Amino acid sequence: MNLTPLAGTPTIPLARPYLGREEEEAAAAVLRSGWLSQGPRVADFERAFADYVSAQHAVAVSSCTTALHLALLGVGVRTGDEVICPSFSFVATANCIVHTGGAPAFVDIDPETYNLDPRRIEQAITPRTRAIMAVHQVGLPASLDEILKVAKRYGLPVVEDAACAVGARYFGQRIGAPHGLLACFSFHPRKILTTGEGGMITTADPELAARLRRARQHAMSVSDAARHHAQRIVFETYDDVGYNYRMTDLQAAVGLIQLGRLDDLLARRRYLASRYSERLQSFGWLKPPMEPEGLRHNFQSYMVRLTAQAPIGRDALMQELLDRGVCTRRGIMAIHREAPFRNDDWDAKLEVTNEATDHTIILPLFHQMTEDEQDYVIDSIADIAARYG
Ligand SMILES: *Cc1c(COP(=O)(O)O)cnc(C)c1O
Repeated sequence: MNLTPLAGTPTIPLARPYLGREEEEAAAAVLRSGWLSQGPRVADFERAFADYVSAQHAVAVSSCTTALHLALLGVGVRTGDEVICPSFSFVATANCIVHTGGAPAFVDIDPETYNLDPRRIEQAITPRTRAIMAVHQVGLPASLDEILKVAKRYGLPVVEDAACAVGARYFGQRIGAPHGLLACFSFHPRKILTTGEGGMITTADPELAARLRRARQHAMSVSDAARHHAQRIVFETYDDVGYNYRMTDLQAAVGLIQLGRLDDLLARRRYLASRYSERLQSFGWLKPPMEPEGLRHNFQSYMVRLTAQAPIGRDALMQELLDRGVCTRRGIMAIHREAPFRNDDWDAKLEVTNEATDHTIILPLFHQMTEDEQDYVIDSIADIAARYG
């Protein structure tokens, strides 16, 4: 990242991907091979990813947004349908529902975990509800057992927006193992494992996986690879309206290397997150992220909440930190406050979401971050608080 340092102060970015020579060499090998788009490296990455999360099938696509779009289409969401999801999420969670012709039905979150509150799902179900989308926000698994219980009672499929959740665990099992019907991951550079852009869908259902594979590639009846290797001429058919949502072999080659680093990346984030929590907790006005019994956070983002005792407002704190060369972001957005989704009813109903989006802040966290850099962030917060207190 080439940020211009402020005079006399270090510039600490919010996030930074961790890429080495191995990624460069893997990408160069693909360039030399002559097969650039979806091919052998995509197939390798799919197998390795499926193994890592203990899924039967993994389907690579161009992003998590396109993964979620295909997943929703795959479970039958169509025009006029509703999909239950949190508003406290990145806008793509709701956009992909709109892409199918459906509409999001926002349900409030739990104030401790920031994930979908399973106790509020039932009251949001209508005859038009077609699916439930559980988001594992900033890498903390949602309450899957409780969500699946309601879903089962109403015969609704659960699609997991696992964009942030690679390597997170739900009672020992990695997210992406069969919990919901489908789980969708992101490999955007802000996520822990990156391929520049990219996504993955995992499922235990072979028929669904086959349909997703066709849909991502123009609904072509024969794959490029199968046609390329055929000894006799083949004419493909297009039996549906498909999409071009393919991942490239360049991305997959990088993804394979990144997957090999993932456990190290997760361990470092966990160490830095616990270091943050220990110090920030002692301030008495910042609430660190919690990790319920049995769940394992991956700390894709390190998000803290300013409590009522905070000596400074959230936005002023962000500005003061930026003035000291520390980049932060507000906590997760509330989708229902953005123009395409704005509606007074949502605003009145989603109290916990409104409260969380106004009082949370994401602090810098990345693999290469040094203890000195982290101490600078923590000391800056203490210093700002002392001046305002
Ligand atoms: C990042 C993110 C997405 C979108 O992922 P892309 O790969 O950028 O399309 C969707 N949902 C959530 C919760 C995210 O954090």
